[in-house]
Amino acid sequence: MADRPPLTAPPLVDRHGRTISYLRISVTDRCDLRCRYCMAEQMTFLPRSALLKLEEIAIIAERFMARGVRKIRLSGGEPLVRRDVDELVQRLGRHVGDGLDELTMTTNGTRLADHAPSLVAAGMRRINVSLDSLDPERFRYITRHGDVARVLDGIAAARDAGLAVKINTVALRGLNEDELPAILRWCVAEGHDLTLIETMPLGAIDEDRTDRFLPLTGVLDGLRAMFPLRRDDHRTGGPARYWRVEGTGTRLGFISPLTANFCDGCNRVRLTTEGKLYMCLGHEDQVDLKAALRDGGIAALDEAIDLALSLKPARHDFRIAPGAAPAVRRHMSVTGG
Ligand code: SAM
Ligand code: SF4
Repeated sequence: MADRPPLTAPPLVDRHGRTISYLRISVTDRCDLRCRYCMAEQMTFLPRSALLKLEEIAIIAERFMARGVRKIRLSGGEPLVRRDVDELVQRLGRHVGDGLDELTMTTNGTRLADHAPSLVAAGMRRINVSLDSLDPERFRYITRHGDVARVLDGIAAARDAGLAVKINTVALRGLNEDELPAILRWCVAEGHDLTLIETMPLGAIDEDRTDRFLPLTGVLDGLRAMFPLRRDDHRTGGPARYWRVEGTGTRLGFISPLTANFCDGCNRVRLTTEGKLYMCLGHEDQVDLKAALRDGGIAALDEAIDLALSLKPARHDFRIAPGAAPAVRRHMSVTGG
């Protein structure tokens, strides 16, 4: 790997002493699925004119790299529904090994079979694919119309193209809780890692999230009774806590924002598809980087990034309570999960 290039502006350290080295970018708020815990069935999406142009995303991402960001994840919405996404991946991929340690993506997998080879050619090595059920009927119900076979084809294509695949599964009470052992067994058989996620109160949906909230503490106890799990100190710079399924290559992660706070080690910020920088998934504070860039160029962008950093809160305030309003109004698809 090439030596780290010199920083051209001060590194990003927030007022709590945390160094920001990870940028998540939501490249579109649109999606071809409507997962029940994520979106309402009738979502209103942003007009295309409100979105950052590809060139603007690249300029902002490159500015973050110049200030010490080493990892970028593209997300959404569904990143692979954005028409010029391959071009963006190519542009950012040029920095992998030369300024950027890793470029990766979180996708629902429906279009992965078409895109996997170009992602690999651009320098991507790992990808997260969301999969909440292996059962076709159940998958269709959770996503409101998705076809699990397409996602499984996409995952196979990604693996064949050389991408390491991590499966993300949101643990949903009464929807997939009985299937979590089978999903872990499948991941072991296929050689994928698995991360289980607690549902978070982000944006209005058609249901009450409290009904579906499943604390992962109980899930872990259940899985430990069935699988030989050993604690693993592996950290990806993300919020997951890991276990190893002994005798296999599979790592099992738990993202438990509601039952285990992980904010002390937070190293990330999030850029929305409209160009707003959010410092925390669970807070409304944001700074408009698109306006700064368009009005004042790189100098104004740097100032806006510094302002944003000064606003990064110590921790999120997620709580799940019956009938409570979501912690923040925007959906995960806007901020990029
Ligand atoms: N469409 C892509 C996908 O589904 O992987 C990327 C965007 S999606 C918002 C990223 C991740 O956030 C997915 O793993 C999804 O399951 C998760 N997610 C969405 N809404 C959530 C919520 N309210 N609580 C917890 N996880 C959520
Ligand atoms: Fe789309 Fe991902 Fe949200 Fe599901 S979780 S609706 S695939 S953005």
